Amino acid sequence: MPIETPDVILIGSGIMSANLGVMLKCLEPRLKIQLFEITDDLTQESSDGWNNAGTGHAGLCELSYTPKREANGSVNVSKAIAIFEQFEHSKQFWSYAVAKGLARGAGDFIHSVPHIGFAEGQEDVDFLRARHQAMADHHFFKTMDYSVDPQTLTAWAPLVLEGRDEGPVAATRATGGTEVDFGKLSRSLLGWLAQQEGCGIAVGHRVTRLSKISTGWEVKVTHVASGEQRLHRAHFVFVGAGGGSLPLLQSAHLVETHGMAGFPIGGQWLVCDTPEVVARHSAKVYGRVPPSIPSLGGPHLDRRRLNRQSQLLFGPFASWTTQFLHKTGRYTDLPLSIRPGNLSTLIKTGLHAHPLVRYLISQGLQSMSDRIATLRTFYPRAQASDWRLIDAGIRVQSLQKSDHGAISFGTSVFTPADRSLAALLGASPGASVSVPIALEVIKKCLPHLLEPPLGHSRMKAMIPTYDEDLKQSCNADRFESVQAATHGLLELSPSTKSTI
Ligand SMILES: Cc1cc2nc3c(=O)[nH]c(=O)nc-3n(C[C@H](O)[C@H](O)[C@H](O)COP(=O)(O)OP(=O)(O)OC[C@H]3O[C@@H](n4cnc5c(N)ncnc54)[C@H](O)[C@@H]3O)c2cc1C
Repeated sequence: MPIETPDVILIGSGIMSANLGVMLKCLEPRLKIQLFEITDDLTQESSDGWNNAGTGHAGLCELSYTPKREANGSVNVSKAIAIFEQFEHSKQFWSYAVAKGLARGAGDFIHSVPHIGFAEGQEDVDFLRARHQAMADHHFFKTMDYSVDPQTLTAWAPLVLEGRDEGPVAATRATGGTEVDFGKLSRSLLGWLAQQEGCGIAVGHRVTRLSKISTGWEVKVTHVASGEQRLHRAHFVFVGAGGGSLPLLQSAHLVETHGMAGFPIGGQWLVCDTPEVVARHSAKVYGRVPPSIPSLGGPHLDRRRLNRQSQLLFGPFASWTTQFLHKTGRYTDLPLSIRPGNLSTLIKTGLHAHPLVRYLISQGLQSMSDRIATLRTFYPRAQASDWRLIDAGIRVQSLQKSDHGAISFGTSVFTPADRSLAALLGASPGASVSVPIALEVIKKCLPHLLEPPLGHSRMKAMIPTYDEDLKQSCNADRFESVQAATHGLLELSPSTKSTI
């Protein structure tokens, strides 16, 4: 039976709730925590391995984090530096989880894989060189390689170079990149949480309404199989429901969410299981991001290992949908989320973001041969017969009235004025920064748990540099020593070949 009056209710069993739940329990072992999840198994939506790209986003190769050249020709890499540091915090926490037995063996969920940024054509090659110059100056990226030599690039990523027309090409390679199975990691962390005293995980339970009460929140929950409804009360609620977050926030009738809207964008991958092809690609290769879709990032060709098999994934392609969730969503999700208060937000976004709208229309109209043609811009000799199309997760792009039609990029934490609830909105860089997000939620909503000496020292044990600025050059040695310890526990080592 779910705990009727826990201290904390977590909604959803994705990577966000998994990290937050474990972190909270480690900070305050007496906390009673109850998690509700609609599906019968844990972590079946965006955090499941097949539904995301598994990239440990650290700003190494994703050109979308460094989109523009400045007037003087330089590239602003501050966002890549910030994301790198956030991912260090995630790795530190996961290495603590492995060391303390809160998550199963690191080799199960995280691997080393080179991250490559690839450019073709003089303009993009110039951009990549400027980006590399700006990054290599920073201690986070000092080991990043850059080359314009086709032979070197062929050694790094043969499928990407072979059969390509002559012309300027360049790439950067970071051998410290990672591939993460966020689904396995979440299930592992939640498996630990479920065994702790005062904690419960109820699958097959849909949260249908949030109501504010004087002591916190009343949460209405339906047992999906029987239809039985129950009310639970908690001081603090975390809405980690992925695409399901917007309807839940709407049910809470908070003034702060007035005008908030969501727009779902489905994802699809091309998958190749042909062993001879898979064996020849040992990296994650990201290319240029089409200017119309900065918020979605561009396609990439990845070596993955899911369901104990190696495969290549290419994408994501965008697809049309009106569902907010992949497994349990309904086609009525989008229409039912439209209110008089958010209609203008949706219309303004449609008018303002017409390049994105055009992009989505063209993506939705694509045939398999169009997708193979896109794949061939990465892998010129790709054979259509080696590839099949599958669905990935759904991103619900959150749209705020105050953005006046602009689309914001990134993941943000929403909290009402009284900080009795936190909800996660947005998607990218998503799962990679799930640990800093959990930390942000705690700092904003439950700061007493971090108070010295006990709270502070417990958090320092979990994320040794959480209150330090590793970005500063004076902290370069500290960064290196903490990273060496983290990588040792996670069994990661800089590698020119994927370890998967
Ligand atoms: C195509 C694609 C590629 C991506 N690639 C990457 C990547 O390479 N690297 C990266 O770091 N991030 C990536 N992301 C983003 C990342 O997947 C997400 O940010 C992250 O998984 C979100 O985790 P979450 O816990 O918030 O949500 P989810 O994993 O979606 O979990 C939400 C859970 O809540 C449950 N739920 C929903 N509503 C209710 C309700 N009412 N009651 C009970 N339960 C409910 C759902 O069933 C689900 O289990 C990608 C996303 C997509 C779509």
